[in-house]
Amino acid sequence: MIPRPFEYHTPQSLPEALALLGAHGDAAKLLAGGHSLLPMMKLRFAQPEHLIDLGKLAELQGIKEDNGTLWIGAMTTENQLIWSSLLQEKCPLLVEGARQIADPQVRYRGTLGGDISHGDPGNDHPALMIALDASFVLQGAQGERIVPADGFFIGTYATLLEPLEIMTAVRIPIPAAGTGYCYAKLKRKTGDFATAASAVTLRMRDGRVDDLRIALTNVGDTVIRATDAEDALRGEPFDAVHADEAVRRAMAACNPIPDLRGDEDYKRAMAGEMTRRALHTAYERSAH
Ligand SMILES: Cc1cc2nc3c(=O)[nH]c(=O)nc-3n(C[C@H](O)[C@H](O)[C@H](O)COP(=O)(O)OP(=O)(O)OC[C@H]3O[C@@H](n4cnc5c(N)ncnc54)[C@H](O)[C@@H]3O)c2cc1C
Repeated sequence: MIPRPFEYHTPQSLPEALALLGAHGDAAKLLAGGHSLLPMMKLRFAQPEHLIDLGKLAELQGIKEDNGTLWIGAMTTENQLIWSSLLQEKCPLLVEGARQIADPQVRYRGTLGGDISHGDPGNDHPALMIALDASFVLQGAQGERIVPADGFFIGTYATLLEPLEIMTAVRIPIPAAGTGYCYAKLKRKTGDFATAASAVTLRMRDGRVDDLRIALTNVGDTVIRATDAEDALRGEPFDAVHADEAVRRAMAACNPIPDLRGDEDYKRAMAGEMTRRALHTAYERSAH
């Protein structure tokens, strides 16, 4: 319950935050919504000497559309995602996913950028980001770089973010009209991390699956893009035979760790079931 003492910084701009990060290096941690970092500090799993609060940085706020791409500031909270009429209209998968994250209080604080940067395989945004073909804008002292979500997550709590970088925004290409989508999440109760979950986007053309993306939550040491499963359906009619094969391949891609949510076999089977549900719902929602 009681974290170690730390020094608290409230930079007013992105350059100021980067300078503080540069000055304190490994002894500092960025603070966003605080709903993963503070619990870890209270258990003394994390013991930073400096907390750099990103809450005052206007550069990390907002949701806007720019030339076919959605730009979402890293400090956007889960509730701001859910309440955004732009996202409800242009990117309903993100809204559907955010509604299944944590609980109302946590969603007032927890941020999109924090959920992604944390790199926890239990977090839901990594799979949503891969299904949506998102990219992340990372700012360092030397400048900005943009990295795709697919490949960003390299292990438990490990991402491509460098220690002196700040994620400023997420960019999502607006899904083409008629794209089906679904986030299917199995959890023991509201506010729990997934036992298994599957994020799907799917587009049909001339009676066949034109393109699709499938990403799995909490069934490996990091989020898993189920590319073999995608290959089972791409270019094929959406029927029981091809959907079943995709489900089988999604299960084969899992590498779950047994814990209180279940053993390996159960989690693998549930990843298959969530993928089955997400695929069928995405197909029903697609134009075909
Ligand atoms: C009861 C409870 C239930 C939860 N259930 C779920 C759930 O079902 N699904 C889910 O996905 N999450 C869940 N969470 C986690 C929650 O969504 C967190 O808010 C989220 O994981 C981290 O976001 P944050 O903004 O709180 O980040 P913080 O806790 O402030 O930071 C997390 C980490 O990311 C780093 N970081 C934050 N922002 C940036 C940035 N812009 N650039 C670089 N690094 C950054 C921090 O330095 C820190 O290492 C739950 C949390 C609680 C307390």
